[in-house]
Amino acid sequence: MMKNTIRKKILVTGGAGFLGSHLCDRLLSDGHDVLCVDNLYTGTKDNIKHLIANPFFELMRHDVTMPLYVEVDEIYNLACPASPIHYQHDPVQTTKTCVHGSINMLGLAKRLNARILQASTSEVYGDPRIHPQTEDYWGHVNPIGSRSCYDEGKRCAETLFFDYYRQHNLDIKVARIFNTYGTRMHPNDGRVVSNFIVQALKNQSITVYGSGEQTRSFCYVDDLIEALVRMMGTGNSFTGPVNLGNPVEFTILELAEKVIEMTGSSSKINFESLPQDDPIQRQPDISLARERLGWEPSISLEQGLKKTITYFEQLLF
Ligand code: NAD
Ligand code: UDP
Ligand code: UDP
Repeated sequence: MMKNTIRKKILVTGGAGFLGSHLCDRLLSDGHDVLCVDNLYTGTKDNIKHLIANPFFELMRHDVTMPLYVEVDEIYNLACPASPIHYQHDPVQTTKTCVHGSINMLGLAKRLNARILQASTSEVYGDPRIHPQTEDYWGHVNPIGSRSCYDEGKRCAETLFFDYYRQHNLDIKVARIFNTYGTRMHPNDGRVVSNFIVQALKNQSITVYGSGEQTRSFCYVDDLIEALVRMMGTGNSFTGPVNLGNPVEFTILELAEKVIEMTGSSSKINFESLPQDDPIQRQPDISLARERLGWEPSISLEQGLKKTITYFEQLLF
C-alpha cells in the first residue's frame, strides 16, 4: 500500500539481485519511482518480474562500469556480485564494478547533487584481528589473494566515496553489510545459507569447508533492508561507515546442524578444504546503528531460516 510520502526518483544499481530486488519492493511500497539498473550478471528477471507491470518501476539493462546519464534524486549502489564463487569467476570485472562502477555512480550523484549510498561489506575488515568488529577498525586484508578483487575493490569504493565527500561535498552514506540471507537467493548463489538449504532439501551431503569452526553472523534480508532505508534517511552530517548485520554469531557447523534439523533432512556433513583467506570469525558491533538508526535486527536465525527453507522448497519442488 502506498504511504503518504513525496515520490522520489530512486536509482537502485544491482536492483535485480538478491538484496536489490527486496530494496526495489520496499521503495515502491513506500511510494517511490524506482529505476533498477542491472547487467543481470548474478541477478535475474525472476527477482523483479512481479514489478515489471508497475508503472513506477523500470528495469534498465546496463553495466555500471560504463557511464550512466539519468535523472534521479537518490542512488543506492548495490551492483556487484557478492558470492565468492561469482566474484572470483571474473575477478578483474569485479574490481572494475567496484571501482569504475563507483566512480560513475559518484559522478552521476555529483552532477545531480543526489544523495548516494554504497553497499559496502564486512569484507573490508578481511580476516579480522579484533572481535567483534567496530567501524574504526582498519581491517586485515590480503591485497593479492583470491578474495582481494572484492575486498580491495570494496575498500577502494569506500575511499572514493569519502574523497567525493571531502573534495566535492557529496552527500554520501556508507553501509558495511554483514552476511545477509533470505528469499530470492539464487540456488546456485554459492553462499553458505543457500548451499546448505539446497543440499539438505535434496538430501545431498552438506559441504562444510574446513573444520566448520569458523563463525559468521547471519542477518535476515527484511531486517537489512529496513536498515538501508533508515541509513539513507539520516541527516547530511552522518556518512557512516556503519555496520549493518545481526550480531548473533554461529559456527558454520552449527548452521549445518540447524539446517539439517529444520529440514528433517537425511543429509550427512562432508568436510571439504577451506578456501584461501576464509575469515575465521565475523561478528558486527552494531552499537553505532543502534544509536544513529534506532535499528537492530528483529528476526532470529531460526525464523529467517524457516522463511528461506519454505522459499527454496517452493522453488525446487
Ligand atoms: P547479488 O549478486 O544477488 O546482487 C548483485 C547484483 O548486481 C546482481 O543483480 C548483478 O547482476 C548486479 N551486477 C553485478 N555487476 C554489475 C555491473 N557491473 N553492472 C550492473 N549490475 C551489476 O548479491 P547481493 O547479495 O544482493 O548483494 C548486493 C550488494 O550488497 C553487493 O554490492 C554486495 O557486495 C553487497 N553485500 C551483500 C552482502 C550479503 O550478505 N548479501 C554482504 C555484504 C555486502
Ligand atoms: N558520469 C556518469 N554520469 C553522469 C556524470 C558522470 O556516468 O551523469 C561518469 C563520467 O563518465 C565520469 C565519472 O562519472 O567519468 C566521474 O565523474 P566526475 O564528474 O566526478 O569526473 P570527471 O567527469 O571529471 O571525470
Ligand atoms: N561455506 C561452507 N560451505 C559452503 C559455502 C560456504 O562451509 O557450501 C563457509 C565458507 O567457507 C565461509 C562461510 O561458510 O567460512 C561463509 O561463506 P559465504 O560464501 O556464505 O560468505 P563469506 O562470509 O565467506 O563471504
